[in-house]
Amino acid sequence: MHSQRNSKNGLSCKMVLQAVGKVLRKSKTKPNGKKPPAEEKKQYLEPEFTKIRVVDFDLKELVVLPREIDLNEWLASNTTTFFNLINLQYSTISEFCTGDTCQAMTACNTIYYWYDERGKKTKCTAPQYVDFVMSLCQKLVTDEEIFPTKYGKEFPNSFESLVKKICRYLFHVLAHLYWAHFKETVALDLQGHLNTLYAHFIVFVREFNLVDPKETCIMDDLSEILCTPAPPPAPLPAPSAPTSSPSPSSQNHVTER
Ligand SMILES: [Zn+2]
Repeated sequence: MHSQRNSKNGLSCKMVLQAVGKVLRKSKTKPNGKKPPAEEKKQYLEPEFTKIRVVDFDLKELVVLPREIDLNEWLASNTTTFFNLINLQYSTISEFCTGDTCQAMTACNTIYYWYDERGKKTKCTAPQYVDFVMSLCQKLVTDEEIFPTKYGKEFPNSFESLVKKICRYLFHVLAHLYWAHFKETVALDLQGHLNTLYAHFIVFVREFNLVDPKETCIMDDLSEILCTPAPPPAPLPAPSAPTSSPSPSSQNHVTER
């Protein structure tokens, strides 16, 4: 599965680079993995982009546990699907996520460190981090002892905590996609897919309390916009409050996790 990360999609690399170049030209900086200048921050919050979704209906209907379905079966099936979809979404920009462009796994002034199986904290590049995440998820969701598919086979006691672990890591990947690769995603015209996937994922993890809100709060601004059902298309007087001014307290503060 996670070999999908290297698969090419229809657009050539050159075309995407050209398109990204156009978007980046204004900033006079190359995407070098350093903190983007303030005016470049959170392009993904601009209404031009947040209005783009593949589906526009209440996602809550999609995530509630259907009657007659076992909770663990529902969590297993959704978690596996999110893993595959987020892996696929990342694969669309993986050629732009390199040790040079993304020297650390960053998202909104947060740097994620990988903890190995002995609990040792290691700093790694974003592509290494994503590779660790995807390898771990792949191992877990295909382990018959953890995600049983055979009829009558029980889920282990650790199932819920492992689902939470997977969802937490997948959230890091989504946050990194927005923070570091939104321009490339726009250049590929895949922002509608990303927005839909993100909103579906957030509504799902909220419904079953799978990710600590302290973890997801760095993206709350986007979540609030995307997880609210889109307003009807009737023209409404839009408030002209500035949307791209991050609070001063969050500006220069880098959180480590
Ligand atoms: Zn990256």
